[in-house]
Amino acid sequence: MQPPPPGPGCFRCYACGQPTLTLGCTLELPPGADSDEVQVQLARCRACGAGAVAVYEESRRGAGESWRHWGYAAPEATLRILEEGLLSCPTPQRRSCPCATHRAWAQGDDPYELQGALFAMELAPAG
Ligand SMILES: [Zn+2]
Ligand SMILES: [Zn+2]
Repeated sequence: MQPPPPGPGCFRCYACGQPTLTLGCTLELPPGADSDEVQVQLARCRACGAGAVAVYEESRRGAGESWRHWGYAAPEATLRILEEGLLSCPTPQRRSCPCATHRAWAQGDDPYELQGALFAMELAPAG
């Protein structure tokens, strides 16, 4: 098991509403057509165990910075496939990594045909 990453804290869980949705593995992707930074993240709620796939996009073009952070309430089977893929990448922080997982994600917006309810990733207040 990997230790939880330092950083942005916890998000509100789409399933139970507690501020306990925690980010797990993160994959850095090459910049897209209208984003400078793209990350795919797996998230898991520490309270109820619900899992999600989150996508974070940041753009530094145009006036000011803008970002989007949303999640898919993906079924468990999908999450397991994604987690396997992310864990099999030797260098998740390397955007130009040539592994199969990176290639699949870099190919399109939604290589795994993610399904499930979309929800906004809402940072839970600290404390
Ligand atoms: Zn929950
Ligand atoms: Zn990779």
